[in-house]
Amino acid sequence: MQCEMCGKEEKLIEAVVEGVVMHVCGNCSKFGNVVPLQPTIVNEENKRIQEKTRIKQDDLAEGIVDGYSKIVKEGREKKGLKQEELAKEIAEKESLIHSIESGHIKPSFKTAKKLEVYLNISLIEKYEKKIGKKDVNFKDELITIADLLRAKK
Ligand SMILES: [Zn+2]
Repeated sequence: MQCEMCGKEEKLIEAVVEGVVMHVCGNCSKFGNVVPLQPTIVNEENKRIQEKTRIKQDDLAEGIVDGYSKIVKEGREKKGLKQEELAKEIAEKESLIHSIESGHIKPSFKTAKKLEVYLNISLIEKYEKKIGKKDVNFKDELITIADLLRAKK
């Protein structure tokens, strides 16, 4: 089997990377955010890892600024767009735009990013988290594991 991170043929171990279970080599398992799952691991330990992953996702959700509903609405009106038109432009449902603007639903990072770019607004707070020794800014959601591996070198 090949390491899912670097492609090296080696004895692989299971590790949680960015909340996804992957099969990686010993080298990659040491990398940054990887939580190794030993075969002898107890249920308690698994629970702890799941908890950690869940907390991380919650952290990310907090990256959307508080006044997002107003910012989206004003940005859209500045562009002279109806909710329906904006929805079409960013390939989302009109009902989602409505929910975001009424403050009922926080946009996902992906949606927020699209809104930011399309409306030229700022929805995602500068949100930094340490991964290994390298500061990673989650504002740039294009960061991939490959980027992180490069950053390590
Ligand atoms: Zn590897």
